[in-house]
Amino acid sequence: MGVTTGRLIQRHLWSIYRAYDRDPAFADLRRGGKRVCPGRGSMRPEVVFVGEAPGRAEAATRKPFMGAAGQVLNALLDSVGMDRRNVFITNVVKYRPTIGEVTVRNRTPRPDEISASRPYLLAELAVFDGVPVVCLGNTPLRTLLRPDGPEHKSRVGDWHGHAWWHDDRQYMSLYHPAVGVYDKAMMPVLFADMLLMKEWLLS
Ligand code: URA
Repeated sequence: MGVTTGRLIQRHLWSIYRAYDRDPAFADLRRGGKRVCPGRGSMRPEVVFVGEAPGRAEAATRKPFMGAAGQVLNALLDSVGMDRRNVFITNVVKYRPTIGEVTVRNRTPRPDEISASRPYLLAELAVFDGVPVVCLGNTPLRTLLRPDGPEHKSRVGDWHGHAWWHDDRQYMSLYHPAVGVYDKAMMPVLFADMLLMKEWLLS
């Protein structure tokens, strides 16, 4: 891929993020002057990772997975000889969902925010035609498994390390790296799943 193709992909991605930024469906979510946290990484990725939504560190830097969960993701990638420069990382929801005006805390994105974000995520993924997608945690798993079917209640505890095909693309589900922040005892499971992912990418 030449520099020009990379620039064209980049430009197309930004047209998606700008449209998201203008969408009235997110008026509530962007209250307080929040800015979109775009996907970042390689324009020819070996895999696309999809998380839930930016947190404080991601909103501040406008880069996904920069806080504690990002450190875990880096360690997991490192354990299988991968690095962020060769992957693309994004989130289902592109603004940091928060509660409270005085003490601002993260919250889980609402179902309406997730379903309004889905077409933008699909457009973003379409840019990386056929590239395998890894769902990090319940939100991307439920968003990308057909959300109108019984799968919308899927739990990552049942799906982690499992792969499936949909519309000519391979998907895999992994635990969200934040699991390793809150429960260190889960780290061996996260590392084992990462090895499975690496084998799946090579197969
Ligand atoms: N959690 C996510 O789901 N995404 C991020 O970017 C950071 C933390």
